[in-house]
Amino acid sequence: MTRPPHPPDHTSTTPPATTPDTTRTSSSPAARSKRWTCARCGRDHSAYRCWPEGHLCRTCVLAALDIHGVCPGCGDQRILPGRGSDGAPICPACAGIVHSVFRCHRCEVEGRLYHRKLCIRCTVTDRVAALLDNGDGHIDPALVPLAAALTTGPTPTPGGRLVWLAKPHNRDLLRALATGQLPLTHPDLNAYPEQGPIPYLRALLVHCGTLPEVDRQLLEFEAWLTRRLDKLAAHPHERLLRQFGLWHQLPRMRTKAALQPLTPPARTYAQLEFIHATAFCTWLAEHNHRPTELGQIDLDRYYTVLKIGHRQSLRGFLNWAMTSRNLPTLTFARTRFTTGEALTHTQRLDLLRHFVPDHDHAGPLRMRVAACLLLLYAQPVTRIMTLTVDDFVIEDDGSMVLQLGNPPAPVPEPFATLVMRLLAQRPDDATSRWLFPGRRPGQPLNYVSLSQGLRDIGVPLRLARVAALRQLALQAPAPVIAEALGFHHTTTQRQTIHAGGIWNRYAAPDGPTQQAEPRTRGR
Ligand SMILES: [Zn+2]
Ligand SMILES: [Zn+2]
Ligand SMILES: [Zn+2]
Repeated sequence: MTRPPHPPDHTSTTPPATTPDTTRTSSSPAARSKRWTCARCGRDHSAYRCWPEGHLCRTCVLAALDIHGVCPGCGDQRILPGRGSDGAPICPACAGIVHSVFRCHRCEVEGRLYHRKLCIRCTVTDRVAALLDNGDGHIDPALVPLAAALTTGPTPTPGGRLVWLAKPHNRDLLRALATGQLPLTHPDLNAYPEQGPIPYLRALLVHCGTLPEVDRQLLEFEAWLTRRLDKLAAHPHERLLRQFGLWHQLPRMRTKAALQPLTPPARTYAQLEFIHATAFCTWLAEHNHRPTELGQIDLDRYYTVLKIGHRQSLRGFLNWAMTSRNLPTLTFARTRFTTGEALTHTQRLDLLRHFVPDHDHAGPLRMRVAACLLLLYAQPVTRIMTLTVDDFVIEDDGSMVLQLGNPPAPVPEPFATLVMRLLAQRPDDATSRWLFPGRRPGQPLNYVSLSQGLRDIGVPLRLARVAALRQLALQAPAPVIAEALGFHHTTTQRQTIHAGGIWNRYAAPDGPTQQAEPRTRGR
């Protein structure tokens, strides 16, 4: 360890009554640009802090400012940025760090300080208040819940909130809301020109009760259709397509959404219907066919060369156009899907054998868990994405079950351990109960991300169709598969009991209990 050649800032071992308002070792540019060896990580760096143990780099100091707990030197509960002789984190007083300020000037919480010596939470509060200021130094009452959600709410961490608030698009959006330029309604959010931050903000507004809950798929389809129709303004059959989208597709989707939430594939299907209807109308225009005078031969010429999937997507438009007398009544062949290939028992076993053990090509843990759930229990992606941590239960005998239906399905080893490991990765302050939490507050990972993630790690979703898998799952349920992979009941129980420590933290409905020991806070 290289000792600093000039006196470090541990001139006194007793803390002074008032802490000098300086945290830098030196402000002269020459001293700042000089290179030192960090006393903790040993890397070469420009001076950031000089503490009694030596010069420290920025990375090591910021990491040290995140450690809180009971100081082994004096027994006080506080920030532990120093290092004892045994390497254990100790408080600034015990470490003799006297010239650095750690306490927020407003709330007195210790930690990393930002602008004007304020802690991260006070800094976030100030930024939110400034951005949502209606011009009189106040936040409009309608926006108070949003301010609270942005300050303390379900957004991941204070650090994440600060980064989000610093982005120009997000700042503009909040200012537009604060000044009333952007009214607080779903349609106005749809019409906002910069759509990037809208889904996240909308999720926050719904989460804090400022906007009513809406069917997300319906909303996204509506926004998509609006943009699509705007682009079709010059299309010769724009009126026909507008009627199809607004009078036929939207009301039908609204009716369905009123009964139960729409699935992402339902939205994708409606979009495909509209895309193929547009292509058909473009073809009509290019060949100078008047829709009402279209002949059977013309339709056949177009329809028969389409791929099977495209024909299926066009049927909705043709049926509607003929019923509404926009097209003459013609016939078009009903499409039949061939059964095609399906996953075999051996392929299913091979895939599971690939996803269970840790190796370089196994992929991210959460996708491996999702793949196992899909392959073992024949659950569609839409069901897997809505599983919660509470769906996994430990029985009295230490075995794990998954509550998919009645009775619950057993989760044998080695899959139980895989699930346990995923649960252990949840952050301590996780508020959502989703097994696969998404980036938007209070929502699970979305359908597109989950299915793309599964494809990325090599799950052939086309072959692993649920109907075909169900047959395999009936023939060889999870425990049979576990044995085929070489796992037996004795190992099952031992490993589940071993993992019980992790499990207990998730079994409590109020979330994980706080730990009294020193721990590193997430940033
Ligand atoms: Zn370092
Ligand atoms: Zn201490
Ligand atoms: Zn503070």
